[in-house]
Amino acid sequence: MSDTIDLHLHTTHSDGVVDTSGVVRKVREVGLSAFAITDHDSLEGYFEARELLGDGDPELVPGVELSASLDSCDLHILAYLFDPENPELNEALGEFKRRRNKRGEKMVQRLNDLGIEISIEEVHHHAGSAAVGRPHVADALYDKAHVNSYEAAFERYLGNDKPAYVAKVNFAPDEAISLIHMAGGLAVLAHPLIGESYKHIEYLVEQGLDGLEVYHPHHSSAEVVQLTRMADQYGLIGTGGSDFHGRAGRYADIGSQQVPSDCLDKLKEISARKRGHN
Ligand code: AMP
Ligand code: ZN
Ligand code: FE
Ligand code: FE
Repeated sequence: MSDTIDLHLHTTHSDGVVDTSGVVRKVREVGLSAFAITDHDSLEGYFEARELLGDGDPELVPGVELSASLDSCDLHILAYLFDPENPELNEALGEFKRRRNKRGEKMVQRLNDLGIEISIEEVHHHAGSAAVGRPHVADALYDKAHVNSYEAAFERYLGNDKPAYVAKVNFAPDEAISLIHMAGGLAVLAHPLIGESYKHIEYLVEQGLDGLEVYHPHHSSAEVVQLTRMADQYGLIGTGGSDFHGRAGRYADIGSQQVPSDCLDKLKEISARKRGHN
């Protein structure tokens, strides 16, 4: 087994196109020593993977990627090594999904008011078990030929200033971080160079951020060096992964980022130290 890990993977429980068993199969093929399934706002993929693993399999690290926003900036906060059974965390994720699905219904209502025939069932068909988001509404609009392309759905109806847009339901970053800590986990800022979320690093550190995603397919090797330095400067643990979604053109393959297993050792060390203090 290799000494590489991958701490950022998606399944069909969020916006990945490969289901949990497919992801587990690929993880075995690549021969990682450890991995984390970090679906957006859902632990379902993690629980499924846990059931599939046995002796000799790579280690599964509890993980999730929380959707947070600050002002108009989207921040993705990864959580690791929390107690997956934690009631507060599970309740918050359940509530998040209910609120997202309600928002989906409102978008469908707006589209109906505009004279577009589309139903929430059609949207759910595209969302599967995931919480409803704009991409699923866009898929449904395209499927029913109300638009010529997925992008056109955003240009005409779903974009931030378009007629069927309904404001997002997201966690506040401090809320996400304290939820993660309450469940005994560590909070890591995902892909800090996407959407310039690194600009909020000082605020997030004040809120108790523990780590920074350094290895990510969006980062050049020079940026990996810069981000490693930034992590050191703020006393953050560097982590990383492929952000695998299984979609063509949407990030890299499982295990492709050569993340050293040392990252996980450090996460565990800090986690043990924090738990010792509680
Ligand atoms: P939501 O979280 O439901 O608001 O959906 C956000 C997702 O919609 C983003 O992660 C993108 O995948 C997609 N999205 C947002 N704006 C656009 C756009 N203008 N064109 C294509 N996809 C978009
Ligand atoms: Zn994703
Ligand atoms: Fe993300
Ligand atoms: Fe992700």
